[in-house]
Amino acid sequence: MIELICGDITQAKVDAIVNAANCSLLGGGGVDGAIHRAAGPELLAACQALPEVDGVRCPTGEARLTPAGNLSAQYVIHTVGPIYDQVRHPERLLAKAYESSLELAEQTHCNSIAFPAISCGVYGFPHDEAAFIALNTCLNAEIPNLHIQFYLFKPLDLTIWQHTLNSLL
Ligand code: ADP
Repeated sequence: MIELICGDITQAKVDAIVNAANCSLLGGGGVDGAIHRAAGPELLAACQALPEVDGVRCPTGEARLTPAGNLSAQYVIHTVGPIYDQVRHPERLLAKAYESSLELAEQTHCNSIAFPAISCGVYGFPHDEAAFIALNTCLNAEIPNLHIQFYLFKPLDLTIWQHTLNSLL
């Protein structure tokens, strides 16, 4: 089941909140900053404890799991979407970021997960194309009984996601 919500993802009452992070996993602006502020320093410490290669804790398209600090969720799943105009196949990497996150949710027996609009902020992905990839990937994931929420921060994004979901169903 997919539910679309306009609001702040840090308020989501789910097992896992997905963070649109950068490769270092050391926090940043946008939704990443909001999640770290709400979760508190425990989240940054958990990220810092993850293995890194040349400062990269999570390559683009992959995902990493940590506890969620002060958030009501049990886990934060950090994933890194593509920077739209810096990679060859941004659509594949965006789908992979959603797939990697869903895989971790399944492996850890989550019943519910909340996604932001990955790559739709400073990473510059066109929102209609991102909505199609996000929703299509989730609809095709076939994880039984996983309740998937999308937190769209801006009303226009909620409208785009609603139209796209209607066209896919
Ligand atoms: P990226 O670097 O992947 O583009 P951003 O954080 O810049 O990530 O933006 C991703 C999306 O998250 C944007 O659509 C932005 O409007 C949205 N966003 C920002 N803050 C929040 C929040 N607190 N809850 C949900 N979505 C948010």
